[in-house]
Amino acid sequence: MGSGKVTSSVPFEFQGKHVTVAGLGVSGVPAAKVLHGLGARVTVVNDGDDERARAQAAELEQLGVTVRLGDGATLPEGTDLIVTAPGWKPDKPLFAAAGRAGVPVWGDVELAWRLRGPDAAPWLAVTGTNGKTTTVRMLAAILEAAGLRTAAVGNIGVSLLDAVLGEERYDVLAVELSSYQLHWAPSLRAHSAAVLNLAPDHLDWHGSMEAYAADKGRIYEGNRVACVYNVDAGDKPSTEDLVREADVEEGCRAVGFTLGTPGPSQLGVVEGILVDRAFVENRQKNAQELAEVADVNPPAPHNIANALAAAALARAFGVPAGAVRDGLRAFTPDAHRIAHVGDVDGVAYIDDSKATNTHAAQASLAAYESIVWIAGGLAKGATFDELVAGSAKRLRGVVLIGQDRALIREALARHAPEVPVVDLDRTDTGAMLQAVREAQRLARPGDTVLLAPACASMDMFANYNKRGDAFAQAVRELGA
Ligand code: ADP
Repeated sequence: MGSGKVTSSVPFEFQGKHVTVAGLGVSGVPAAKVLHGLGARVTVVNDGDDERARAQAAELEQLGVTVRLGDGATLPEGTDLIVTAPGWKPDKPLFAAAGRAGVPVWGDVELAWRLRGPDAAPWLAVTGTNGKTTTVRMLAAILEAAGLRTAAVGNIGVSLLDAVLGEERYDVLAVELSSYQLHWAPSLRAHSAAVLNLAPDHLDWHGSMEAYAADKGRIYEGNRVACVYNVDAGDKPSTEDLVREADVEEGCRAVGFTLGTPGPSQLGVVEGILVDRAFVENRQKNAQELAEVADVNPPAPHNIANALAAAALARAFGVPAGAVRDGLRAFTPDAHRIAHVGDVDGVAYIDDSKATNTHAAQASLAAYESIVWIAGGLAKGATFDELVAGSAKRLRGVVLIGQDRALIREALARHAPEVPVVDLDRTDTGAMLQAVREAQRLARPGDTVLLAPACASMDMFANYNKRGDAFAQAVRELGA
């Protein structure tokens, strides 16, 4: 199954080299330990020097790693290589100094890619503005259903370094990559890869939409079997444009996914069936049925798109149709992603707290017919006109919470003036119970109360998980 061989990575001799690790934290500490273990002389530089950083530094210093806290700007003398935390912005002075000195910069993904062994598992890679985690988990479920040894790794919260260097043997890895990680992974060559969609996000980091798209597009570089793109999304540039610009191995195919009827070399939907017209085993047929839309959990349009992308990658690896169906049936979504938390008086309550940007909220609003929408929080510079105008006809009512709710209220006044709006002027955590009560008051039987805030949560909650938990708790109290 799959096309076996892994392109060998460029060797790098670490013994005696001076490697600077930029940034302590999730990826920095393990990277420093691994590099130290490979015989490199390691210096860690970190901007902050808070209590946590000092504790991490003490642990590393015991091993013989040098740690410089409170100065992430200066390039340590004699550095041969920088391994950076993915979040470090490319315009930092440290990287300018590295550029002048001709010192290469790798991220955590590049390091893992270079350190994987000669018989390492190939990578099926996924990026996109929204849907990455869901798609990677679906992909892993499908690969497992095919009897393959696999894991969902990367930006999903499971370290690629661990996956690559650990004891466990894998046949194939389902890898989630963020745009930051791709920026710092110049030699990564996936077996096959998908860009799910492209909406403006993290532009302050990348500098422009073009730079953001270019970093996402790197995932296609050197693909061997398939570059999977989104046929339907009207993004500019489109994911198909990114495929066209990529330099891939000979024989690598562009494979599209669509919620409509698939053309040749595409996966799509025909009368409630997910259909593959790209990887058809039986030459007498021009299409292979994979699964039913009802096998996708939840069967919201954007999630069917995620399932098709996951199926395309699995099929590129040679997985049979039956395993796609079994994997999709076995898949359960992570918490706070369109999670049905309860029904009260004929109204469904859905927690999509993970919809932290307008693109994600748009997708979940498109999944329901008649909605009482709970929205608001930290807007992160977003505008809401397009989202509100596109969803206005589905809105029974809106309850606004959080710091930047006026931005949404103004967009509602412009594009949906007749929709009733309750504006809750509080940002304390208890406001969620009141929000849910107001939503209950606005809802009619058959409606959906949807928490899809289109905003980050940190003005009111520690994170989106806590926001979703507060919503679910409030729904339980309504039902009690
Ligand atoms: P990511 O890992 O990219 O953040 P997730 O799978 O965690 O993506 O989903 C995050 C949110 O994005 C979901 O709660 C949902 O609102 C939205 N979403 C999921 N898939 C898509 C998609 N294909 N297109 C648009 N929005 C999506």
